[in-house]
Amino acid sequence: MSFRDTHAGELGSADAGRTVQLAGWADRIRDQGGVIFIDLRDASGVIQVVIDPAEHPAAVDLRREFCLSAIGTVTIRPAGSENLDLKTGSVEVAISDLTVLSTAKALPFQLDERTDVDELVRLKYRYLDMRRPRVAANIRARSVGVAAMRSTLSDAGFLEIETPTLIRSTPEGARDVLVPSRLQQGDFYALPQSPQLFKQLLMIGGIERYYQIARCYRDEDFRSDRQLEFTQLDIEGSFWGREEVLATLESVMVEVVRAVRGVELSTPFPRIPFQEAIDRYGRDKPDTRFAMTIEDFTDLFASAGFKAFAGVLEAGGVIRGLNAGPLGLSRSALDGLVDDAKEAGASGLVWLVVEEDGAIRSPVAKFLSDEEMAGMVSTLSASSGDHILVVADRARVASEVLGRFRVRFGTPEHHDELEFVWVIDFPVFEETDSGDLVASHHPFTAPADVEDMAANPRTAVAQAYDLVLNGLELGSGSVRIHDPDTQQKIFEILGIGADEAEERFGWFVEALRYGTPPHAGFAVGIARLMSILQDEPNIREVIPFPKTQTGIDPLTGSPSAVDDDQLVELGIDLRPEVRAERMAREAESAAPEVG
Ligand code: ASP
Repeated sequence: MSFRDTHAGELGSADAGRTVQLAGWADRIRDQGGVIFIDLRDASGVIQVVIDPAEHPAAVDLRREFCLSAIGTVTIRPAGSENLDLKTGSVEVAISDLTVLSTAKALPFQLDERTDVDELVRLKYRYLDMRRPRVAANIRARSVGVAAMRSTLSDAGFLEIETPTLIRSTPEGARDVLVPSRLQQGDFYALPQSPQLFKQLLMIGGIERYYQIARCYRDEDFRSDRQLEFTQLDIEGSFWGREEVLATLESVMVEVVRAVRGVELSTPFPRIPFQEAIDRYGRDKPDTRFAMTIEDFTDLFASAGFKAFAGVLEAGGVIRGLNAGPLGLSRSALDGLVDDAKEAGASGLVWLVVEEDGAIRSPVAKFLSDEEMAGMVSTLSASSGDHILVVADRARVASEVLGRFRVRFGTPEHHDELEFVWVIDFPVFEETDSGDLVASHHPFTAPADVEDMAANPRTAVAQAYDLVLNGLELGSGSVRIHDPDTQQKIFEILGIGADEAEERFGWFVEALRYGTPPHAGFAVGIARLMSILQDEPNIREVIPFPKTQTGIDPLTGSPSAVDDDQLVELGIDLRPEVRAERMAREAESAAPEVG
């Protein structure tokens, strides 16, 4: 039996008179007594079909989301009954033959976009959720985007190569997801945080141009834009430096955006050095869709009479400010900003409002000279109604706190515009709260200058770069270390002793000793890119089967308990306290409801 010869969404007036066979779902049903109208939906779109219940008595029992196959004649809709909202709205199909392929239970939620459905319920019935236009469009767009990545790279001579998912841990700075080995009881694989070391091995292996749509796993606490497992476009090239990486990624982004959005990006993307991003935007992922940059007033206040400012300057701090625009905030809301600034780590915040007559309203106005106030107003191009926010603190704190206000008051709600920017010249290392150094990218990133790094690790610059889109980090990459001695130096600075380095990475440093070509690469988070291109606030919307914020899949109920036998085979056991807690949890969920 054949199910269909025509896709619903492709029909138009040119098809009038044709007999077609369609298959799909009953999207909407309108029973008008003598005639039943059904919007029949398949993956290509929707067509209205018309059924005469006198000829097809079973049609009165049709319900939403029944799966149907139907044969009928395409007819032009009577004048006045066209549906301009529908691509196929000029025609309908008069059904002569109808088969119910399968029936559907009453739906847990309506599939039209107007109904707001709880996300847990949507995820539990994701297979129904993805029949809704929005999720369906996202899944489709993602496929279009990935296809554009593949074709651009394959045309440029890149090989698509799989790397293993059961590996030895890769240090990308997150917690590993571990998998116990049955054959080597007591040993564990890690799932890759990224294919980093394997792609470098491919370069050592002479592959020269690699890419992969790679699954990666990082056991981090969930945030709205993070998932335990995610997919990256992973790239690496030999005899490459930064310019080749950036140009390749730009060409990929141009094609993806053209394919998904139909928009032409201009290249090259602007570049902002890391330090400038921090100083002017307060973060390493600047949203450049709006100006509102942070300005430095340290010189302006060099001989400040205002004690709070003078004290900070004496202690080596800075004074920086931001024009947050005409916010129209009340006095108490403005004071609330001061509390927010303190919570964010600043010792305080000064606010000033430019009045209609140009005068300045501020609790500290009386401590500031006319020149100081005029200097701020002119540097920030502030005009009537504008709110100026000023923080006096250590440079990093001042900019970071102002950066938060910048994002809060400046960020456009939608991603109509696309502003790509490279952030370059990241530091090699970052300091943890306890003062230890950790790699700011990963420990295989080449420093700009090896000697300088050894002498001044805290300020050393790396050949590392991030790609940022609309204030969100899409991914990062770097020129890699191809010299084993430099690699060892990095481990040393990171406090990884010779023995530990040998045990964890000896195999990799050994590989570097066999004529390693200079190489560089990058990785882009696909869900994040797609969520911006699809103007979705949450990456879960562009992931076919996402997990919730707490790492749960409500559809399949994972993670879940496993049989004791499985644990025995793996040679592992739950810790007694964990076992007890699990049992208590189980008992609780099995307990009959009281009352
Ligand atoms: N492996 C890095 C990451 O996953 C990207 C790269 O350096 O190519 O972030």
